[in-house]
Amino acid sequence: MLHINNLHANIEDKEILKGINLEIKPGEVHAIMGPNGSGKSTLSSVIAGREEYEVTNGEMIFEGEDLQELDPEERSHKGIFLSFQYPVEIPGVSVTNFMKTAINAQRKARGLEDMPANEMLKLIREKSEMLEIDRKFLSRSLNQGFSGGEKKRNEIFQMAMLDPKLSILDETDSGLDIDALKIVADGVNKLRREDNAVLLITHYQRLLNYIVPDFVHVLVDGKIVKSGGKELAYELEERGYDWIKQEKAV
Ligand code: ADP
Ligand code: MG
Ligand code: MG
Repeated sequence: MLHINNLHANIEDKEILKGINLEIKPGEVHAIMGPNGSGKSTLSSVIAGREEYEVTNGEMIFEGEDLQELDPEERSHKGIFLSFQYPVEIPGVSVTNFMKTAINAQRKARGLEDMPANEMLKLIREKSEMLEIDRKFLSRSLNQGFSGGEKKRNEIFQMAMLDPKLSILDETDSGLDIDALKIVADGVNKLRREDNAVLLITHYQRLLNYIVPDFVHVLVDGKIVKSGGKELAYELEERGYDWIKQEKAV
């Protein structure tokens, strides 16, 4: 699904990603862990195509297409979803209406007509039931006064509605209590299928108790210095990151 080869990227002329190689196949969940400032969020932003970042070398091929030829919106319409770390509040626009707009924008980009209203309602009902989201929540103004957990619920709901091929979830270390963490984990687990994939970026080993990844990669100073299975996450929790840095230096 996604091949990243020797990816280098700068922000403000400073090199942050220094040769990333990563291959994600359908059905897989990959976790990226690493110390603060190692470039995890940069990697997610570069895959999503955020414009502040300059790719200086390497390539990202998503389903046979060179991502660098596509702007962020096109990438999203091809099926790449990036979770929003700083969700915007939109007073007067309900969660439901926001989802309708997002779905129809995606359909338009794919050359499809707006989704018929009854089909839309059915989809909203199906996905909200699956994620145990209640009706009251659906009529609230987008992100206005949302708790951390509600923001996560909204984000997972959006992911369920848009049904991306590749979801990139960048979980920062701030503001995620255990309930919010469980909302993310339950949602991701319910949405996991053989034909989609997840790139989960986290500082938290804890999240990986709830979402069991197929692969864990450790990012240090802009490079993946170690990859393994889910057991690597436990090892990191016990031993921290220093041993990997030392291993790498030898
Ligand atoms: P992580 O998500 O692993 O904590 P980031 O990708 O956020 O790491 O940051 C990697 C490095 O890039 C850090 O040294 C950070 O200071 C730098 N950086 C990130 N965003 C910017 C920015 N907008 N301008 C300048 N430097 C940045
Ligand atoms: Mg950080
Ligand atoms: Mg980060």
